Amino acid sequence: MTTEKAKAPLSPPLSPGSAGGEEVGRASLLQRLTVQTSERAACDLLRRARTVDHAEGPWLEIGDRRLLAFCSNDYLGLARHPQLIAAFKRVADDEGVGSTAAHLVCGHRREHAELEEALAEWTGRERALLFSTGYMANLGVMQALLRRGDLCVQDKLNHACLLDGAALAGATLRRYPHGDAAAAARQLASDPQASTLLATDGVFSMDGDRAPLRELAALCRRDGATLMVDDAHGLGLLGPEGAGSVAEAGLGTREVPVLMATLGKALGTQGAFVAGSAALIEGLTQFARTYVYTTAMPPALAAAALAAVRLARADGWRRDKLAALIARFRGGATQLGLPLAASDTPIQPLLLGDAASALAAATALEARGLLVGAIRPPTVPAGQARLRITLSAAHEEEHVDRLLDALAALPRALGDRPV
Ligand SMILES: *Cc1c(COP(=O)(O)O)cnc(C)c1O
Repeated sequence: MTTEKAKAPLSPPLSPGSAGGEEVGRASLLQRLTVQTSERAACDLLRRARTVDHAEGPWLEIGDRRLLAFCSNDYLGLARHPQLIAAFKRVADDEGVGSTAAHLVCGHRREHAELEEALAEWTGRERALLFSTGYMANLGVMQALLRRGDLCVQDKLNHACLLDGAALAGATLRRYPHGDAAAAARQLASDPQASTLLATDGVFSMDGDRAPLRELAALCRRDGATLMVDDAHGLGLLGPEGAGSVAEAGLGTREVPVLMATLGKALGTQGAFVAGSAALIEGLTQFARTYVYTTAMPPALAAAALAAVRLARADGWRRDKLAALIARFRGGATQLGLPLAASDTPIQPLLLGDAASALAAATALEARGLLVGAIRPPTVPAGQARLRITLSAAHEEEHVDRLLDALAALPRALGDRPV
């Protein structure tokens, strides 16, 4: 997520004429960006994409190394499932690759319509609307619902795209301390006249804990605010048949009118959707610009996602296996005195504090053949850098044990472990 700090200008103003000696009256944008980048590098905060040559379940081949990964969001181990691959290939053979147009032009295919129906049914909503990514879904929803002068109340640890969505819509953004429903109530009360959206992650992406959905829902009902839940990390994992954290909390469309989730995490594919009343979906179809003005996802991808929805609902054993792996990891990590977070989801962060420690721990694990993400500011608040360990039904017990062995071997200075 984005923090205030991340938005503050980091670089000093450049003097006019500093771009290659030309006499120009303004600072060069590229030069400013370069300065910002080098400042980030100086604080151990540079980000860089790794090229994965081959992925096979939790195993990744990078260059000449084969690493056991604990950093993907493929929680149910569906990304390589033969039924997903078969659906993807069949529709690619029959329909081609690109959808060739936006949904509202001629890009909306039968595979999209079937997937929307399945998602609405699974989440217990009247209708669902597909977006090409979760980021776009959140921007589109907020743009359609909110206007300047409206209030958008959000948890401080919400995903970056929820924060960006409120900013783009021009609403007044007020954030409350993580998971604090009483503080959320105070933010709602700060402007009782304003039309208000309260938006929260269902499961927090970097912490793995859950939002107090029932309290937030009660609050929104009392104060006439609309509740939106981003369940990117709850769908497929929590609730009956994996219908998500909103279903687990027993909340329907009345309590949570706007439910968003992605297809790129537990469902192992790509894309996202918003589910809710027919009126909500009709409105988004008209006014969500990230739905209207973009090419529909490939129909083969929609077909693969539909296969994933069916498996996610039917394969309760995947959730059971994952729960056993999570318990094994937490049991072992507790014995080692590791700085575990209060999470019972597959997201199991180890809070290490400064960015350099998180990076050093990730490097040490990689030397032992394990790939774990070091999450640093501005994705998490300063001083809360961490290893973001994620477990998957594609892992086996011996994989978790290997991770625990490697964590036990980390120098004691990495993290606040007792001797
Ligand atoms: C991943 C994520 C998104 C963005 O979804 P994409 O489909 O990857 O763009 C939105 N919200 C949350 C909470 C996420 O974790």
